[in-house]
Amino acid sequence: MINRKYLLCFISLSVLLLNNKAEALPFKKDRYYYEKKGEMIWEVQTDQKMIALTFDDGPDKVQTNQILDLLDKYEAKATFFVIGNRVMKYPEIAKRIVQEGHEVANHTYNHVYFKRPSSAGLVQQEIERTERVIFQATGKKSSLFRPPGGLYDDTIVQVSNRMGLVPVMWSWHQDTRDWSKPGARKIGDKVIRNARNGDIVLFHDHVQGKTQTIEAIGIILPELRARGYRFVTVSELIKSSASKEVRK
Ligand SMILES: [Zn+2]
Repeated sequence: MINRKYLLCFISLSVLLLNNKAEALPFKKDRYYYEKKGEMIWEVQTDQKMIALTFDDGPDKVQTNQILDLLDKYEAKATFFVIGNRVMKYPEIAKRIVQEGHEVANHTYNHVYFKRPSSAGLVQQEIERTERVIFQATGKKSSLFRPPGGLYDDTIVQVSNRMGLVPVMWSWHQDTRDWSKPGARKIGDKVIRNARNGDIVLFHDHVQGKTQTIEAIGIILPELRARGYRFVTVSELIKSSASKEVRK
């Protein structure tokens, strides 16, 4: 009888310890957690030769227009993560982006590097203000959001999801760091060498000083096109992945 009592005591103690251990384990909400839940994306799994080029921080009076000219020349579509206060300044460029079949997406109003833990109120306000000016300029609502600096936490993900936006980062092997001006050839080589189906490539269409991005795009577009890649918006890329699942 006593033995049984001890045994029960031992079992309950073990359960208690195990529970505590489970609770004490840090639960990391990282890329894999969010991708699995479909709340945020870095790149897309697809069997189609599609790549999404993305441009942050515009619109820029000169650079964005030059990029749009090049995209047009090579029949490529892209996604522009715009800054709200720059859309206020250049609504006609935001309009041109949409008119030419590209996607406009939200990159906050003031390019805020959100502190983490982030303030839900500030995140919502930055997204809302930007949505308003995007809609005024283009008549469209965006469905994607990229937090400045790629800084995110659970609040940023949940708030943007609630507002109907999916946070979009970029393929880790396709961060061109074009803003640091490593050389147009270097940017081009990196993107070409690393190209895979479903990539999301990170560029900037508003770089301080002399940009190398436009020259790099001029290298990348003809080369990857010759290799059979199509350049699509991020939303199209996401759809291509969904259609693959439906086919299964
Ligand atoms: Zn940015």
